[in-house]
Amino acid sequence: MATLDIRDLHVTVETEDGPKEILKGVDLVIREGETHAIMGPNGSGKSTLAYSIAGHPKYTVTGGSVTLDGVDVLAMSVDERARAGLFLAMQYPVEVPGVSVSNFLRTAKTAIDGEAPKLRTWVKDVNAAMGAMKMDPTFATRSVNEGFSGGEKKRHEILQLELLDPKVAVLDETDSGLDIDALKIVSEGVNRYKEKGDKGVLLITHYTRILRYIKPDFVHVFVDGRIAEEGGSELADRLEAEGYDRFHDDERLSP
Ligand code: ADP
Ligand code: MG
Ligand code: MG
Repeated sequence: MATLDIRDLHVTVETEDGPKEILKGVDLVIREGETHAIMGPNGSGKSTLAYSIAGHPKYTVTGGSVTLDGVDVLAMSVDERARAGLFLAMQYPVEVPGVSVSNFLRTAKTAIDGEAPKLRTWVKDVNAAMGAMKMDPTFATRSVNEGFSGGEKKRHEILQLELLDPKVAVLDETDSGLDIDALKIVSEGVNRYKEKGDKGVLLITHYTRILRYIKPDFVHVFVDGRIAEEGGSELADRLEAEGYDRFHDDERLSP
């Protein structure tokens, strides 16, 4: 089972002028086997939602709930969230100088599983996953995210997704900065993860391009810290044709 249940989530961020409410009541349920896309204009709060699910300390939940299979996610530390099966691919991944990709992945796997993976199968799994992502084997010896190109960072995220095998993956702008070949490789990685069948995917994106390769079951339009409209994949096509203008118009008309 894997159900991520977000109810009336309100989140503030600390700014120079005091706390500012960014999420204004988000309702979203991701059941196993489902792929949800969140689309929306810049600054609408998409990344704030991802960071709040992940437990980033900068964001304060002031109302609502997030549960994974009925268990309170908001009461968990960041590490506990990962162990519970939540995965967040960051829009701006951090550098970890001096820690190789290989060590980083093994440490993460050990932390999540509660025991170190058997070395021989682990090496085989890493090599297979890197091959699938069309990554050069020398990549494993490089420091995490140090000097990585945009495409390498994204491939590294999907490599983690393959190897750490979470229940629910939150992917924030996994498509940004990718050329068409890298976009296909990254999308295929996400689709392999989806094909395991019992996984939930929350795909956050500004553009519809990636949704040609990763088919969402549901599309949610995020505007000003809320879901403003929901539909199936046809909604993404409509957004591609019309943009987000009509949502801004709605906002100006409302009191
Ligand atoms: P999106 O990912 O949809 O582009 P974000 O969640 O990054 O949107 O940001 C939503 C809003 O919250 C923006 O107005 C942004 O300036 C503000 N915001 C987010 N994080 C911070 C922060 N750490 N400090 C100040 N403002 C923030
Ligand atoms: Mg509310
Ligand atoms: Mg963002």
